[in-house]
Amino acid sequence: HRFVDRATPERTAAVIVAGDFHAQVPDYQSLESYRAEGGYAELQRFRSGELAYDDIARMVAEAGLRGLGGAGFPAARKWEFVRSGAKPRLMCVNADEGEPGTFKDRYYMESRPHQFLEGMLIAAHAVEADHIYLYLRDEYPAAHKILTREIAALEDGGLAAPGYIEMRRGAGAYICGEESALMESVEGKRGLPRHRPPYVASVGVFGRPTLEHNVETLYWIPAILKNGAEWFASQGKPGHKGPRSYSVSGRVNDPGVKLAPSGISVRELIDGYCGGMEDGHRFAAYLPGGASGGILPAAMGDLPLDFGTLEKYGCFVGSHAVVILSDKDDVRDAAINLLKFFEDESCGQCTPCRIGCEKAVKLMESGRFDDPLLEDLCQAMADASICGLGQAAPNPIRSVRKFFGEETTA
Ligand code: SF4
Repeated sequence: HRFVDRATPERTAAVIVAGDFHAQVPDYQSLESYRAEGGYAELQRFRSGELAYDDIARMVAEAGLRGLGGAGFPAARKWEFVRSGAKPRLMCVNADEGEPGTFKDRYYMESRPHQFLEGMLIAAHAVEADHIYLYLRDEYPAAHKILTREIAALEDGGLAAPGYIEMRRGAGAYICGEESALMESVEGKRGLPRHRPPYVASVGVFGRPTLEHNVETLYWIPAILKNGAEWFASQGKPGHKGPRSYSVSGRVNDPGVKLAPSGISVRELIDGYCGGMEDGHRFAAYLPGGASGGILPAAMGDLPLDFGTLEKYGCFVGSHAVVILSDKDDVRDAAINLLKFFEDESCGQCTPCRIGCEKAVKLMESGRFDDPLLEDLCQAMADASICGLGQAAPNPIRSVRKFFGEETTA
């Protein structure tokens, strides 16, 4: 699992001893420090009525803020859908961050937790949510400690009512990062994705209209309100809006979370933000969006990384987890590795995904990458799986078949 392991170079900060949390908590911005720089002023302006919902929604829409968990759905439109549902409304925060190669949410929770928490409270106020469930990846013990401590500080400081924000710990299932499975898990059930419609905006957790947001999406909201929509939008490349937090891993000199313009190419990311390739490695291929976003050759390394630009090649940028492979890596091995991951993490409730992942691994391991049967299988999985896991699992297979031909290294 080399590609997955290398995806989390900073994870050594957290140490779990004997099943209990003994996390080394990194330095992070305190409530006092955040307030000293004007933090929570936007929330208070919104709550006091000085800022109206329409103003906030317009700014978030003009900024072009999209769901940064991977789906890229416009945040302000999501608020409108949830607000059209009957009260009581609820909110779920997806801090499960299970996509292989993705570690940006952890970075923000462990460095500037209050910017994220303020964004969360603003979004909750925007849809008039009665309660917030914050669903946190359990492999993030430092983030758990920080958020527990800082939510208590918010309650003590009168910024959140006691019990308004409820932390829920995930139990390590990738599928619980899927929004409807996450809600099942919050309800205390197995994390099985739901059929849609109805969408969670109208029938979400405990059957109520629910706003679901990723950590980074919320993180940007106070900054947009403070600095303006244009400040955020103008940070993208021409034709793209906003900055993006790329989690870069693999064969580069300096992996990590890179704040860069949306629409940047992977070549610009490697050379301008990651110190180039590691010595002895030639850039050969990349995963633009974690495990599910497909695999592209270096020859396609000038494509803009943003929502809506890689789809025509059967790939996507998702949560912006970019994994760099070199001439020392075998793309077919990488694809098999990814399908094994999906096989392990499939919840098993629908046949195309449960059987499809297993069968695909067998075919690929026996060297039958070019077998038409594999494409039939991919089509059935993409067409008939209930959720995104099974629908996107064929992406690495299809992209290797399409872009790499007989070559096993690019
Ligand atoms: Fe479960 Fe896979 Fe079906 Fe999703 S596609 S519901 S993960 S079996």
